[in-house]
Amino acid sequence: MSSVMSGNPAVVMRLVASAYAVAEKAGAIVRKVLHSGELGIVEKTGANDLQTLADRLAQQSICASLSKRFPKLTIIGEEELPAEEVNEDLIENGQAEEILQKTCPAEYSDLKEEELVVWVDPLDGTKEYTEASRCLYLPAEAQTPLTGSDASLPLSALWLLDNVTVLIGIAYGGRAIAGVINQPFYNYQLGPGANLGRTIWGMPGLGAFGFQLQEVPDERRIITTTRSHSNKTVMDCVDAMEPHEVIRVGGAGNKIIQLIEGKASAYVFASPGCKKWDTCAPEAILHTVGGKLTDMHGNAYCYDANVKHMNSAGVLATLRNHQYYTSRVPQSVLQALK
Ligand code: AMP
Ligand code: MG
Ligand code: MG
Repeated sequence: MSSVMSGNPAVVMRLVASAYAVAEKAGAIVRKVLHSGELGIVEKTGANDLQTLADRLAQQSICASLSKRFPKLTIIGEEELPAEEVNEDLIENGQAEEILQKTCPAEYSDLKEEELVVWVDPLDGTKEYTEASRCLYLPAEAQTPLTGSDASLPLSALWLLDNVTVLIGIAYGGRAIAGVINQPFYNYQLGPGANLGRTIWGMPGLGAFGFQLQEVPDERRIITTTRSHSNKTVMDCVDAMEPHEVIRVGGAGNKIIQLIEGKASAYVFASPGCKKWDTCAPEAILHTVGGKLTDMHGNAYCYDANVKHMNSAGVLATLRNHQYYTSRVPQSVLQALK
């Protein structure tokens, strides 16, 4: 008897329901570390490749919580952390009830735990996270933290907070089949005391939730691209698409949110640097609403457990008109990015 008929939610639905709760917990950790002002920044490969205490704690929380409930899952997280006992208060046991109530698409209803791969970016947009923090907390005496009652905030840098997301993507058979994105500082504009954060999720064949789908008018090309990992090839490729407007923001998750909320028509990144944990959850959500995420050649990425982590042929994502953008990629870019 299939899991649907027996009345038990399918494994993948239980996993998405857990991932939703776990992503909210991770978002709360990301807020807490920012508010503490002690980021614990470590350079990984260089000054534009950072890790903070929030990246470490959020990943521990996500991975330990999911593997506790789903011990046979393959979970691949961005951060390399020493294998140590995870503090009990980092464990999230909750599940989103509204997800458990949904009907699993028939093609996924019998998937087994051991067939699923989870790609985890505990904090996407770390560079921007650290910059937002610097503006909030330096010099320490002169600034008031975000939660302060009479906060005098440097508004010029606060927008960077929305570049930060928590990404949990679920793959089966090499394809991204579900994604959860938590945006921990959503509604930061409302100021002190506001209830911050939101969670967006989606599953092709079921639906996408937690946002209002909007599209940029067809004739207008607004391109969103990297803010802190740019180079000449990246910008030449953007220019070749003859954009009416270019937006530079941090985070792969954030740029996909821009696509589905009608802020941008294409996410163009003609460079290696993005990894599978950056694109798995965003791709699943984008795909659910009819969009596409590929490399610069227009080829899909594979999310099997054994693939290389780097998306070395770049990232091209659109809600509509993918073909236009792939057709505009310069030959030199296609040759450089394999
Ligand atoms: P960005 O659009 O620059 O925020 O990049 C999206 C994601 O890809 C982030 O997680 C970045 O950390 C990652 N990324 C892109 N380029 C690089 C790079 N050159 N080095 C390290 N990480 C990168
Ligand atoms: Mg990332
Ligand atoms: Mg990250």
